[in-house]
Amino acid sequence: MTLPPRAHTMAPRPHEGHGDLGDRGDRSRRCPGCGLDAPAVDGPTDPYGGASAACWAAFQHVTVRDYGEFRYPEVHRLIVDAYMSQHPGYATPAGRRSVAVHLVGLCLALERGAKGKAIGKIMACVFPDKQDIAAPEPIPALTEVTVASVLDAPDLASHSRLARAWAEAVWRSWTPTHVRVRQWADQATARGRSVRAR
Ligand SMILES: [Zn+2]
Repeated sequence: MTLPPRAHTMAPRPHEGHGDLGDRGDRSRRCPGCGLDAPAVDGPTDPYGGASAACWAAFQHVTVRDYGEFRYPEVHRLIVDAYMSQHPGYATPAGRRSVAVHLVGLCLALERGAKGKAIGKIMACVFPDKQDIAAPEPIPALTEVTVASVLDAPDLASHSRLARAWAEAVWRSWTPTHVRVRQWADQATARGRSVRAR
């Protein structure tokens, strides 16, 4: 996927609420999730419609570096969870569950020191019956730090440091929902244990 020209060098504008489609008139488009203001591009976006195509392309660029150049580093899990938590799309039950599950990922990594593989297993146990849930609210208006902050990291050490700072900011922005997320994390961890004990 091609990164839109200069997309990552443009500063985000103040967030104007989830669902804002931004100004398309000047060929720029503000991401409804993180507020990243980047030239409009044609292309896919996230499965739940929480991101602009340009922002999604920036995320793809970062993950391509993870898979190739950085050989799937530990911080990749944090990057995915930070991105998806910052781009809620609540139009479908799967979209509502997605934000909850990725917030559980952030909780496990940042508050409990869990590692990628273990986190993935617990995340799979958050909603085993795929039930619908009330959407996590309020949606934070975090625009100061976005996936763009990770784009130009010169090496793996800075990539990891910048990604962690971004993930911590995203997690902090969801503070009113932390109690609920910790409950999901506790329940999923217990479910994971009982599955292994069988
Ligand atoms: Zn975005």
